[in-house]
Amino acid sequence: QKIVVKDFAELLGKRVSDIIGKLIQVGVMAAMNQEIDFETAAKVAKEFDVEVVEKAVSQDEEDETDFIVIPEDDEKDLKPRPPVVTVMGHVDHGKTSLLDAIRNTKVTTREAGGITQHIGASEVQVNGKKIVFLDTPGHEAFTAMRARGAKVTDIAILVVAADDGVMPQTIEAINHAKAAEVPIIVAVNKIDKPGANPDRVKQELSEHGVLIEEWGGEVISVEVSALQGLNIEELLEMILLVAEMEELKANPNRDAVGTVVEAQLDKGRGPVATVLVQNGTLKVGDSVVIGTSHGRVRAMISDTGKRVKSATPSTAVEITGLSDVPAAGDQLIAVADDKMARTIAEKRVNKIKEEQLKSSQKVSLDALYSQMQAGEVKDLNIIVKADVQGSVEAVKQSLAKLSTDKVIIRPIHGGVGAITETDVMLASASNAIIIGFNVRPTSGATALSQKEEVDLRTYRIIYKALEDIEAAMKGMLDPEF
Ligand code: GDP
Repeated sequence: QKIVVKDFAELLGKRVSDIIGKLIQVGVMAAMNQEIDFETAAKVAKEFDVEVVEKAVSQDEEDETDFIVIPEDDEKDLKPRPPVVTVMGHVDHGKTSLLDAIRNTKVTTREAGGITQHIGASEVQVNGKKIVFLDTPGHEAFTAMRARGAKVTDIAILVVAADDGVMPQTIEAINHAKAAEVPIIVAVNKIDKPGANPDRVKQELSEHGVLIEEWGGEVISVEVSALQGLNIEELLEMILLVAEMEELKANPNRDAVGTVVEAQLDKGRGPVATVLVQNGTLKVGDSVVIGTSHGRVRAMISDTGKRVKSATPSTAVEITGLSDVPAAGDQLIAVADDKMARTIAEKRVNKIKEEQLKSSQKVSLDALYSQMQAGEVKDLNIIVKADVQGSVEAVKQSLAKLSTDKVIIRPIHGGVGAITETDVMLASASNAIIIGFNVRPTSGATALSQKEEVDLRTYRIIYKALEDIEAAMKGMLDPEF
């Protein structure tokens, strides 16, 4: 699993000096004829927007691996692709209703009375253009995927009920979308209700950094009623508008790369996974590797329940023929043949086992100083939860002041209430630590923080937390027992 710098440069089609420059940036000094390992190569490739995966090459030596490069597409091969949209927002603000309203007005291909298969995503046509909606509303799915490094969403619809305004999960959704650098379109919902006050919603959003156009910002908002189907068409047109500005493109003429949106074990059909094809075209009969699972695509079903033979970029299809049930967020890569798919999957299983043996690489206060010394940590991301809003703000401000020229402290999210599983997933996705004041983690959050190796600490007094963080930055934190 090693490659000579010179050969690697050739593989990527870059100058050796550029590769060496990037290597230095990731902290590796290597000359032209020296070997670098897979991990390092992958890091450097990423800097060039190229993805590198391991590939089995030789027929007789099963254990030999080489590098496979998912090539950067030539600009001329790129074709516009439809946007992929996620609906987020506070519970009961109308996410599900909005998705239903969109489907009802727009899904025309569906045969009347026919049974529709739920595959986890749906497509709608607006003025002859396609939009793909991920069916799992809420930011849990979104964050779970991002924690795995998958980026599937191009645009986030933030649903805010006009009679309720900005609520804790609205703020969470904003922070998630911002962290993932996904543009937001605001859907002010329930405008049919007597108590609706869209202006108040817009003002509250501005207080949380989402500046609507009317407020001199750039975020588009549409006032809708999911229940009455009001202004749904306008919302869809705005999605197309934002999509156009994003200039979303992909190359349909190459092997497929995609991400699993959801997956489960079906009694009759075995493992089934809904995959969003993000680049290339996925075809029935393709050999694929998905995380640690592999197989050959036996059948593909579209969002309307039809059997299809191929799926182009920004198409969601349910596939069968896999060895195991993959996880949401796993990446699908189409490879040359079954054997290669199996070998890569097996290697990944082994690698996971090895990694489990090694100690955690996640940021923690105990290891902060050594991680800083090793250059692994430059930003310390912190999520603050407290019993009252006043404490949240006070802590965020005091924390930010602790930044030095070596570490920048970033309070990336703050909220009132218990530490939840969503907080832990956000922390895991953003490599953050969580601190709570006079609040406890839910039991689910505690379990998840252990699994995700997220450093979670609770305090009663603010200055004690500040003291701990300062001490950690100087490498003088007393070990926790
Ligand atoms: P979710 O939790 O965000 O998915 O919210 P739901 O879609 O389940 O909606 C919560 C409640 O609000 C349901 O009782 C819906 O009928 C109601 N609701 C959703 N949209 C509207 C709307 O535009 N107007 C009114 N009056 N009620 C709505």
